[in-house]
Amino acid sequence: MHLSRFPRVKLTQAPTPLQPLARLTALLGGPNLYIKRDDNTGLALGGNKTRKLEFLIGEALARKATHIVTQGAVQSNHVRQTVAAAALHGLKATVLLEERVAEADAIYRENGNVLLDQIFGASIEYRPAGLDMNQELVAVGERLRAAGEEPYLIPGGGSNPVGALGYVESAQELIAQANDRQLRIDHVVHATGSAGTQAGLVVGLEGNNAQIPVLGISVRAPREKQEENVARLAQATWELLGIRGDFPREAVEANADYVGGGYGVPTEGMLEAVQLLARTEGILLDPVYSGKGFAGLLDLIRKGRFRKDENVVFVHTGGAVGLFAYQPVLARHAAQAAQAS
Ligand SMILES: *Cc1c(COP(=O)(O)O)cnc(C)c1O
Repeated sequence: MHLSRFPRVKLTQAPTPLQPLARLTALLGGPNLYIKRDDNTGLALGGNKTRKLEFLIGEALARKATHIVTQGAVQSNHVRQTVAAAALHGLKATVLLEERVAEADAIYRENGNVLLDQIFGASIEYRPAGLDMNQELVAVGERLRAAGEEPYLIPGGGSNPVGALGYVESAQELIAQANDRQLRIDHVVHATGSAGTQAGLVVGLEGNNAQIPVLGISVRAPREKQEENVARLAQATWELLGIRGDFPREAVEANADYVGGGYGVPTEGMLEAVQLLARTEGILLDPVYSGKGFAGLLDLIRKGRFRKDENVVFVHTGGAVGLFAYQPVLARHAAQAAQAS
């Protein structure tokens, strides 16, 4: 797919490594696990939003924008990477943080991603949970325009067809890495939220006829809704690219069994996954996305969803900055594990 016909800035240190998880694979007795290190994209402590922002900031600059406006949860990794990318390109940034996680403590509200948003110089506004956040974005954009700015609005998670191009690129990068080392990839698994990552991956893999199924582990929405969101965005991305034929809707598969109490609410499985990957492979997951995604992968492995000789790639989408916002629950879990051993 010819992605360089879209406006783009370089933000990602790519290709990100594709690494075997040898110790964890041995511990579990298969399948063969690999991890695609999109937590190491290189901008502002990394993560999947950096790839989307290459195309989003590219379009903003092409439109002569002066001011980036976006939104997310208080601990949004997307917001952190967006304000860093804006700083790098001399654009102002206003961000709307939705108080989506009930009963958040002071650490959640002040540390982790939100601290970094402050360091990057973003104007931060808060919104209570339950508003139409995209409508809020439009209203702030109008306010900025009236004040003489040229706003560029980025939806939550950077998930529109332009942002999803970043994951079409990632899919192509993954295929190239697999071909280079003669690795047959049987499954790709990752955490799915605002749907842009999964939509881009599926379009990139299907558009290249890679025949690699993708499973998104939902961190918020129920399965049907998540699949619908991914499919709608994938269809629009397919059309933006002008790929012939219809987007294969059946390539979209999500699993919402690992959301637990809701978006950003810790689960036992997440706590176990974070600790296990750290202690076997020295790799940090995050409490909101990749920790739940990996918890889902571990549970599905234990339930025999994959053959022992299959090669499974987990796309690590980043987010470890969020660990610092969840210090009390993570520290408690580590202390309990120490006591039990
Ligand atoms: C945003 C995010 C995701 C989910 O990606 P979407 O494109 O929003 O589905 C997964 N992991 C991390 C760490 C994220 O920040």
